[in-house]
Amino acid sequence: MSTSEQLFNKAQAVIPGGVNSPVRAFKSVGGTPVFIKRAQGAYLYDEDDKQYIDYVGSWGPMITGHANPKVLQAVKDRLDYGMSFGAPTAIETTMAERICELMPNIEMVRMVNSGTEATMSAIRLARGYTGRDKIVKFEGCYHGHSDSLLVKAGSGALTFGEPNSPGVPAALAEHTITLTYNDIENVRECFRQIGDQIACIIVEPVAGNMNCIPPVPGFLECLREVCDEFGSVLIFDEVMTGFRVALGGAQAHFNIKPDLTTLGKIIGGGMPVGAFGGKKEIMSHISPLGPVYQAGTLSGNPLAMAAGLALLDSITEPDFHKELSAKVDKLCAGLEEAAREAGVPFITQKVGGMFGIFFTDKPAINGFAEVMNCNLDQFNQFFHAMLEEGVYLAPASYEAGFVSSVHTDEDLDKTLAAARKAFAKLS
Ligand code: PMP
Repeated sequence: MSTSEQLFNKAQAVIPGGVNSPVRAFKSVGGTPVFIKRAQGAYLYDEDDKQYIDYVGSWGPMITGHANPKVLQAVKDRLDYGMSFGAPTAIETTMAERICELMPNIEMVRMVNSGTEATMSAIRLARGYTGRDKIVKFEGCYHGHSDSLLVKAGSGALTFGEPNSPGVPAALAEHTITLTYNDIENVRECFRQIGDQIACIIVEPVAGNMNCIPPVPGFLECLREVCDEFGSVLIFDEVMTGFRVALGGAQAHFNIKPDLTTLGKIIGGGMPVGAFGGKKEIMSHISPLGPVYQAGTLSGNPLAMAAGLALLDSITEPDFHKELSAKVDKLCAGLEEAAREAGVPFITQKVGGMFGIFFTDKPAINGFAEVMNCNLDQFNQFFHAMLEEGVYLAPASYEAGFVSSVHTDEDLDKTLAAARKAFAKLS
């Protein structure tokens, strides 16, 4: 029995499913989750010291690789000052200034402890600001696990066939309207009918929780237009895309100005962090400036701020995102070529530092229904064959993949060699 198997057995006795976040359990791909002992650069090491080239990157934050020495040092330097004070610190303002500078659509920002908190708070703010209850989201987009947003959700909720979670009161869920991602007419029709009741649209500007689906031309523009016309708040959930698809996030990449933005992952450098921010006029409604309540014992935690600031420093170096995209381009082109050679119907999609792999004969995958028609069995076989070869992909077919700036050409070549073997084995 591998050490991971032993640890998984032990964990399952005291932790539901043996994990603290469902997708980690390998339930959809089958088999035993790999228990990680440590990580360095582009590599994970399991409890038996097997090395894996990592394309999950802790689901996004590790954009400069694991254990970035600058991030570790920043945390070590802060540690001796004490870990949490529950009172304001100078470093929180430094972080807020940095975020506002990197994402100019954010004029004021509030730090929280996770992406879930960020989106939950942004939704409450949009409702409080507009005095309306209804919100619009898109099927297959995941915005964390707060009640209003667990309706037709993506990521683990989708993987486990529970996009509408028990425990979310129907009376609340009925205020969440779910539309079809990339379907412009669907959005316009909804707003024609009830636009004046809609508090906000929340959207992943590149969907990364039903694999990787970029917006079709005109989709994000349409969201901006209908929100302007009907006085609804446009929220870009950039928890995943922020600082990854471009330094200024998807809003810079596609040049669309949301009213509010939610962030997470990269801004914490691997520590538990989220943030929501945007127009001053809207953010002024948050307590204690305004009546919409939101708070957090550990929010703006100094260690988390130090880690996040050090990571943001690393990614603002010239050409960082250009070089990151070039790595993704090489990986995706190589995977497609390997699949072609093996005669496996397969495509990739990508934006900046994120990518998706699809077992399909379609030339592009633009929406939820098409993702659901991809070949899940082949994905699962491919996942395990890659794992065997020492390549760690997201353990579910509805997740995006992430490359870091420290993935070398050699890492990518090794990955492609593994992929050639894996594609050849597929039935
Ligand atoms: N929004 C998006 C777009 C996400 O990808 C995620 C998590 N993957 C979240 C929100 C929730 O973030 P967290 O897991 O930190 O609560």
